[in-house]
Amino acid sequence: YESKRLKHSFHLFSDSMQEGYLNRLELERHLRTALENDELFMVYQPQIDTQGEFVGVESLLRWNNAELGLVPPHRFIPVAESSGLMITIGNFVLTRTLTQMQQLQQQLGRTWQVSINISVRQFMQTTFLEELKQIVEASGMSLTHVTLEITESLFIEDVDYILHILESVHRLGVRISMDDFGTGYSSLSMLRKLPIDELKIDKSFVDTILNDRAARKMIQNIIAIGKNLDMSVLAEGVETVEQEAMLKSFECDCFQGYYYSKPLPFEELGGVICQWPRTLPGTELRSTV
Ligand code: C2E
Ligand code: MG
Ligand code: MG
Ligand code: MG
Repeated sequence: YESKRLKHSFHLFSDSMQEGYLNRLELERHLRTALENDELFMVYQPQIDTQGEFVGVESLLRWNNAELGLVPPHRFIPVAESSGLMITIGNFVLTRTLTQMQQLQQQLGRTWQVSINISVRQFMQTTFLEELKQIVEASGMSLTHVTLEITESLFIEDVDYILHILESVHRLGVRISMDDFGTGYSSLSMLRKLPIDELKIDKSFVDTILNDRAARKMIQNIIAIGKNLDMSVLAEGVETVEQEAMLKSFECDCFQGYYYSKPLPFEELGGVICQWPRTLPGTELRSTV
């Protein structure tokens, strides 16, 4: 009986392993030709301040494959990272985002801040700084309108090297944002050492802000840390007016989430900015109180 059960569980285990393995290989195979087949594109999610003013966008990568459909980034970015494809894809993200932001600037006669997610592999590439400079210069965008989003997972790498690169990037006028803050490895002494301009409160805390006292405390602490270290604090994943109200009462500086807008295709972004502020669900309710 015992050996049968073992055999059975082994069988299940190897099945799911194989499935994961095949999926990964299949994803990787398709991902290798995604760029040349023009399957990758950027979408842009608005970021707003406490006045409801549009202050910038976060650029987010999308992959639409004929066979696989729309593959979410949390599935294909790890594959891109482990297969080495992320370097090329990361350069595509920078180039496409900055080109489109420059185009937007031409269309609308002014410009906004753009936040770009940088993966660990991309950041650790020895040519990262040089390529970043080249791509921004070629785009015609100003370095001061660019924010790089890094994550705490970067800090498992050589901290002295990271500090050196971050300082060089920062000296160019580029802003640095700590994405998904509160979920990872950073210590307060590390935060103080690094040239960070913004903390992004992870969505998981915002999700439960209304009903979980621990999440609420965590958010208040993150905002206090940001204020003490002269960083601005942005909350991601804001979906309701009630979440916004609580974040505002804690003096959070900026907001991003479905409550304001889902990530938008580039073609729709200009129109949305021109009509900003949009009438948001719940605004009528708020003004009658
Ligand atoms: P992230 O950088 O933390 O981005 C925020 C994610 O939350 C995005 O998911 C966004 O669409 C989603 N989001 C924003 N507001 C809301 C909301 O109110 N409700 C809900 N349910 N979701 C919301 P997305 O686009 O699927 O990206 C997932 C992650 O993939 C990103 O998390 C980022 O870590 C990574 N990623 C996306 N684009 C890139 C990229 O160009 N380069 C790199 N290296 N990573 C990227
Ligand atoms: Mg991000
Ligand atoms: Mg984030
Ligand atoms: Mg997040």
